[in-house]
Amino acid sequence: MKIENDFNDIDALGDDHFSASSETPLRADAFKLSSNEKINIIKDDVKHILETLGLDLNDDSLKGTPNRVAKMFVNEIFGGLDPDKKPSASTFDNKYKYGEMLVEKNITVYSTCEHHLLPIVGRAHIAYISNGTVVGLSKMNRIVDYYAKRPQVQERLTIQIVKELQDVLNTEDVACVIDAKHLCVNSRGIRDIESSTVTSEFGGKFKDHATRRELLDYIKLDTQF
Ligand SMILES: [Zn+2]
Repeated sequence: MKIENDFNDIDALGDDHFSASSETPLRADAFKLSSNEKINIIKDDVKHILETLGLDLNDDSLKGTPNRVAKMFVNEIFGGLDPDKKPSASTFDNKYKYGEMLVEKNITVYSTCEHHLLPIVGRAHIAYISNGTVVGLSKMNRIVDYYAKRPQVQERLTIQIVKELQDVLNTEDVACVIDAKHLCVNSRGIRDIESSTVTSEFGGKFKDHATRRELLDYIKLDTQF
């Protein structure tokens, strides 16, 4: 009975979307297999799941699904596990001496909840105050996309984005707010279609109340063109 109880505890933790660390829990041997080797193994696993559910994989519509899903897992929706895919750290000198905060808002987030493997869809808003270094705007989108393409927990995603930008920009003054819908909450379980989850991480000067307020006001600004 003990084992069953432990398993139930783990199940409950997952349903509450609890995570203990800001690092994605990867094993040391995570990249011993090549992408193609992973696709081949996962293809058989997906086939096994569908067959166990009773589906006929000789059907034309289902025949290609195991391979399609395996490729999608490795190359697309979990492609951000691969450190080789991390966006390069190209930065520029802040020639304009712009010393105010820069906010990039409404960055589309497509991620996957690691507890149910269902989509997380939302918006990220990122801000930083330059201390002499700036990054290209699209770089921020690419960083969001890289960390989103992992089995994720929204809190961890928010922290990973901030840490990466703090690293790249060589400053603590970075913040990120994410507002997202979790399909595991919206489409199953308690089926709350309207609810969304907001997470935030405020580093350096953004811990200051007025600076944080300014950022939140920018995010609220209605920028319709
Ligand atoms: Zn979930």
